Amino acid sequence: MKAIIVHGGAGRWGEERLKHALPVLKEAAEVGYSLLDEDPVKAVEEAVKVLEDSPYFNAGKGSVLSIDGSLEMDACIVRDNPRLVGAVIGVRRVKNPISLARIIAERTSHHVMYGEGAERIARLFNLPEGNLITDYARRRLERVREKLLKEEVGDDLSLMAKTIDLIRKYPDLFIGTVGAVATDGRSVVAGTSTGGTSVKLPGRVGDTPIPGAGTWAENGCGASATGIGEGIIQMLLTKTLCDRVAYGTPLKEAAEELVRRTEYPVGVIALRRNGEVVFAYNTDFMPVALKTEEKKEVEVYGVQGKSSRT
Ligand code: ASP
Repeated sequence: MKAIIVHGGAGRWGEERLKHALPVLKEAAEVGYSLLDEDPVKAVEEAVKVLEDSPYFNAGKGSVLSIDGSLEMDACIVRDNPRLVGAVIGVRRVKNPISLARIIAERTSHHVMYGEGAERIARLFNLPEGNLITDYARRRLERVREKLLKEEVGDDLSLMAKTIDLIRKYPDLFIGTVGAVATDGRSVVAGTSTGGTSVKLPGRVGDTPIPGAGTWAENGCGASATGIGEGIIQMLLTKTLCDRVAYGTPLKEAAEELVRRTEYPVGVIALRRNGEVVFAYNTDFMPVALKTEEKKEVEVYGVQGKSSRT
C-alpha cells in the first residue's frame, strides 16, 4: 500500500505562518506521492526539498540561527530495505541538505559527514548553494536573545536548559523542523531536515542527523521526529519506535507512548509498509499532510491547537 506523510515541525504555529505553510505542506505530500512508484527515496527527498525551499519552515531556507547568528543545518535519510543511511551535520551553504544526505548514502562509503568535508561533497556533485538566512530568522533570533537576556541567563553552557524553560514560556518563538516518511508497499524511507533549535550553541548537534534518534527506518517501519532534539536523542525515539513495532506493539500505541514519556516538547510521524500511518505530538501544533492510496485528497492534521493532539 502506497502512502506518504510529511510534517512541518512540532511547536506553536501562529495563524499567519500556518496560512502560508499549509499549501506548501500539501504540495510536499503531493510531490512525494507522485514519485513513489519511481523511487521512494526520491519521493522523500523531493517532498523534503519542497519544505526546505520554503521560508516558512525551519529547514533549508528559513532555518533558525544559532546564538551567534550562524546557520548550521542537519539532515538525514534512511531506507529500511535495501538498507540506506545518509546524514549530514552542520552545513551552511547547501540549499537542500536532504539531497546531500542522500548523496552521502548512495555515493560515498560513509553514513554521516559534517561541516566542510560534507560541503566539499556537495560541491563535487554540483548541489546548488543559496543565501538561506531570512530576515524573519534574524528577527526571531533577536527576539529570543532579548527574552533570554530578560531572564538573566548568565552563562552559555546553561543555555539549553534555559532555552527549554523559554520554550515553555514562549512557545511561539520556536519553530520545528521538517520530515517525510513514505512507502511504496515494498520499502519504507524516512527523511528529516532542520536548522536545529533556536539559540542553540554553535556546534550543537540535534536529533535529526543521528540515525535512530530523529530519523529511522527498519523492518517495514519508518519515522521522523521533531521537537527538542535532546529529548529525542535520550529516547532514540525513531529507532525505539520501529523496534517496538517489530516486537508487536501497534504503531499508534508505540508512537503515543514514546511522545507521552518525555518531558520535552516533541512529535513524531511514522508509517508501516502496509500503509498504516500515525502522528503523535505533545506540543500545541504539529502540522502534517498525508496522502494514501485509499484517499484521493491530501489530508491535513495537527493545525487546530491543543484540541487536535494525538
Ligand atoms: N529536532 C530539531 C533539533 O533538535 C529541531 C526541531 O524539530 O524543532 O535540532
